[in-house]
Amino acid sequence: MIPMVDLKLQYNNLKQEIDTKIIEALDKTQFILGPNVQAFEKEAAEHLGVKHALSCASGTDALHLALLAAGISEGDEVITTSFTFIATAEAIRYVGAIPVYVDIKADTLNIDADLIEAAITEKTRAIIPVHIFGQPADMKKIMAVAKKHNLLVIEDCAQSYGAKIGNETTGGIGLAGCHSFFPSKNLGCYGDGGMVTTNDDAIAEQIKIYRNHGSSERYHHDVIGYNSRLDELQAVILRIKHKHIDEYNNERRRVAHSYSEQLKDVVTVPFEDGIGTHVYHQYTVLTDKRDAIMPALSAKEIGNAIYYPIPLHQQKAFEKECAGVSLPVTEDTIKHCMSLPVFPEMTEEQIKLVCDTIKSAV
Ligand SMILES: *Cc1c(COP(=O)(O)O)cnc(C)c1O
Repeated sequence: MIPMVDLKLQYNNLKQEIDTKIIEALDKTQFILGPNVQAFEKEAAEHLGVKHALSCASGTDALHLALLAAGISEGDEVITTSFTFIATAEAIRYVGAIPVYVDIKADTLNIDADLIEAAITEKTRAIIPVHIFGQPADMKKIMAVAKKHNLLVIEDCAQSYGAKIGNETTGGIGLAGCHSFFPSKNLGCYGDGGMVTTNDDAIAEQIKIYRNHGSSERYHHDVIGYNSRLDELQAVILRIKHKHIDEYNNERRRVAHSYSEQLKDVVTVPFEDGIGTHVYHQYTVLTDKRDAIMPALSAKEIGNAIYYPIPLHQQKAFEKECAGVSLPVTEDTIKHCMSLPVFPEMTEEQIKLVCDTIKSAV
């Protein structure tokens, strides 16, 4: 049996440290915005090379808070990709804005930066690129088009914690970066958690206010805010795992490269465009033989999944507003994509078993 991610194995490797530190935190009883939350924010900001890292309750909230802080509101248009998890578009809708979808590139599956300009209208206020599956989007082109049209850029880094473009990390290039610590993400906690990174002091201040009931001073509420804080116990876990994140991401790359070497003549393996460092949140291939491969993997209890089976513009929730939207590359990709198990602890024997199973299925 090979799961998509082996959280149990990772926990067993860190168990002693996690259990000890959790009990210490329980003894301190500072559960809301406590010392571990503050320390984690400092460590994350330092590691990512950003001025501010503000934790919150989830990656979805990180996107919502960033849009609020950036002043995106009713009737504004936000350009993004349809080939992503729904949270990217949900957050846009939470502030009353309208998601406008641009097609993806057939090789990297990231937003096609060359198509953004044509989607800009009078109402466009921001762009949300998603660093899909852990590969950085073309931020140079995206920042250039944003600058030309005076648009804000908010990066969805839910799948790309620690991924770099040159010396910069994803989440430190646009106005804000939104991270998720959902358990299966590259840096995952044991529940929900998220974080906004920014180099902008005013945005950081707004995030702090919005995540804590609209208050910068206790019992003084300047705006209607939210209850969206990272849990102290999750911060304990994140601080322990964060020490290993570079190693975890490198190990994910090892697994991916071993897969690609063995599968390159069998399926279309992920394309690294070299713009940044792919940290392989998912290892996603393209193939016409999904119907043969997936049951063969499942028969051996090997994890397999389609990320994503339905693009956002074809979701029921967006039925009305997306009538007539056509995104040919996205619509073709969802028919051919499938993801394989990838986690830092995966052994070469496990990788070979997955590859051999695929080879005999096709
Ligand atoms: C996971 C994910 C989110 C949402 O994060 P949560 O912590 O689950 O709320 C947003 N965007 C993308 C691309 C994701 O993969």
